[in-house]
Amino acid sequence: AESQDPPYLKGLNAPQRDAVLTTEGPVLVLAGAGTGKTAALTARLAHLLWTRKAYPSEILSVTFTNKAAREMRERVGRLVGDAVEGMPWLGTFHAIGAKMLRRHAELVGLQSNFTILDTDDQMRLLKQLIVANDLDEKRWPARQLAGLIDGWKNKGLVPSDLDAGESELYANGRGQSLYAQYQDRLRAVNACDFGDLLLHMLTILKTHRDVLQQYQQRFRYVMVDEYQDTNSVQYLWLRLLAQERKNLCCVGDDDQSIYSWRGARVENILKFEKDFPGAKVIRLEQNYRSTPHILAAASGVIANNSGRLGKTLWTEHQDGEKVKVLGIWDGPEEARRVGEEIEGLQRGGLSVDRTAILVRAQHQTREFEDRFIAIGMPYRIVGGFRFYERAEIRDALAYLRVVSQPADDLAFERIVNVPKRGLGDKALAKVHQLARAGQLPLTVAAARILDTDELTPQARRSLGNLVGDIARWRAMGDTLPHPELARIILDESGYTAMWQADRTAEAAGRLENLNELVRAMEEYESLTAFLEHVSLVMDNEAQAEEPKVTIMTIHAAKGLEFDTVFLAGWEEGLFPSQRALDEGGLASLEEERRLAYVAITRARRQAIILHAANRRIYGQWTSSLPSRFIAELPEAHTESESTMTGGASLWQANWSDRADPFADVGRGTGRGPGWQRAAGVDTRNPGGGFTSRTFTREQPRIVESRASAVSFGAKP
Ligand code: ATP
Ligand code: MG
Repeated sequence: AESQDPPYLKGLNAPQRDAVLTTEGPVLVLAGAGTGKTAALTARLAHLLWTRKAYPSEILSVTFTNKAAREMRERVGRLVGDAVEGMPWLGTFHAIGAKMLRRHAELVGLQSNFTILDTDDQMRLLKQLIVANDLDEKRWPARQLAGLIDGWKNKGLVPSDLDAGESELYANGRGQSLYAQYQDRLRAVNACDFGDLLLHMLTILKTHRDVLQQYQQRFRYVMVDEYQDTNSVQYLWLRLLAQERKNLCCVGDDDQSIYSWRGARVENILKFEKDFPGAKVIRLEQNYRSTPHILAAASGVIANNSGRLGKTLWTEHQDGEKVKVLGIWDGPEEARRVGEEIEGLQRGGLSVDRTAILVRAQHQTREFEDRFIAIGMPYRIVGGFRFYERAEIRDALAYLRVVSQPADDLAFERIVNVPKRGLGDKALAKVHQLARAGQLPLTVAAARILDTDELTPQARRSLGNLVGDIARWRAMGDTLPHPELARIILDESGYTAMWQADRTAEAAGRLENLNELVRAMEEYESLTAFLEHVSLVMDNEAQAEEPKVTIMTIHAAKGLEFDTVFLAGWEEGLFPSQRALDEGGLASLEEERRLAYVAITRARRQAIILHAANRRIYGQWTSSLPSRFIAELPEAHTESESTMTGGASLWQANWSDRADPFADVGRGTGRGPGWQRAAGVDTRNPGGGFTSRTFTREQPRIVESRASAVSFGAKP
């Protein structure tokens, strides 16, 4: 019968086929990384089209990124020909939500040509509201309100759904009122924000039976990839749409839930069986992506999490190389070493296309970018901007350029009112006028205009302060080291404070990027030399065609795979992140561990984990400890190497004068041989010593009951 198989079934294993062929009724595919969940979902889509169970327009398929949607479209296209031309409902939640909402906009008081606001517009609108409500924006920052509103929308809550407690989160209980005013305001300008794309649709489906029925009829089949990362509003929306026909197929992996900070609820996996009784649960256990060493390493780490649904993974692949743990001296050596390794792979005939560097935090890309530019290694940054192109870095650079180069008008324009100092367009127009008339740089014109009565007293004061500051910073440049100067400029200008007051999820990352910028400056002789380097970097747009190394965050790497993966910066405070450690909760630490699992399982052939003994922060060398996740790697599947001579004493010194990083999670002292091994000190004993299994036994299984309450068939 195999030979009669349609092309999309070829090579699929039995449970994958089951997932493809069980088209009717609810199906949940719960399986580990690389077991072919996405492949099965793609084949299922092909099957529905091939067998004409549904027209393309009758299938709703949700992917996590636009890129994933494109890939699925292409693959299905290859499998079944051009039947996929019109797959209008294949896309991300946002893309699908927007498309639906355009058809029914009037039901929530919008017109079909509504605008989708970007964050800048959103912030401006919120600020106006805060002022109109006589609130002090310094005390109650717009970004905090934006974050709260976003959170409510992720939960599927409209203003009238908020309870007093939620409302209390902003301006002494005025959260609800401001949320309501914001929604009114959006409606008045025929706009909505990202959160509204689904929230409005949910409201429509809940309140207009006819619309709901129309979609329930239309969507014969509903499919969702990366199901573990759906948030509440997405879940509620899906449930409504699939409730009638119940042909819903979700695929996911509880161990890869890494977006709880954006409202994702891994419990949605558990709810599935409750909301869709009789759901068929399919487990895929054969991993097609990675070698046994990589799988064992990933499994060893994730085994330290509690409350997992639990699953087995096996592979037919050859052992391949062990996971390499590289202890290096510092950040620059990390970048140098990775560069050398990749050049080695290239000499071995491998395309750099299949190589990735995964980092925990955006700011970590900088060191690699600088190094790769130096050695001419083509690279791409996925899911984010190249370091020097990020908004906060451009702002900071603009400050530095104004100080170092008085005639840099573009830089001046960029920072003149960032952070906001009440310098409106009118005042700026006057400065421009004077500059044009006198053929002066803007900074000079700005200084001269202070001697006239062209400006309002407020604008004059603000501009006077800025002009004075710039002059002072220039003078400081003669005596201060330039990184120090940069820090002073960012602090005194209020730029750092602007992001510190920001409560959105990205703000912390932006502050880290600013730190990283100052750190980068230390490697250059002068401010001028540094700025010159930056302009060269910005100019280094490599040829689009040529193969490139990918640099990205672990979050952005979800669902992807590479032959060789470098996992950089596995150090306490970097990964797990300082934030996760400060919050101290088990939940945040476990989310970091899931990230580690996602990171390792991106590798097909080889995973190389790096940890530096030292990182430079504001010119201060700070010694760092290898990540606890390194100690959790099963010894039999890893191979450690250290370029540090005399590392042992250094590490021991670190441990003796440091607080115990394990104290918060109650897992022993962390001074066992596992750590020294990670640091490249050979203290291995045949018994295995400090293995992850020891951890697990000692650790209270907090949510065990939850795991066993769910019956996903026999657990081997
Ligand atoms: P993740 O959890 O990381 O999203 P996944 O479960 O979605 O992983 P896929 O990306 O679908 O896994 O598949 C992983 C790799 O295995 C891909 O290269 C895919 O082409 C391959 N693969 C999937 N199923 C099979 C199969 N039956 N035979 C051979 N290769 C397969
Ligand atoms: Mg996948």
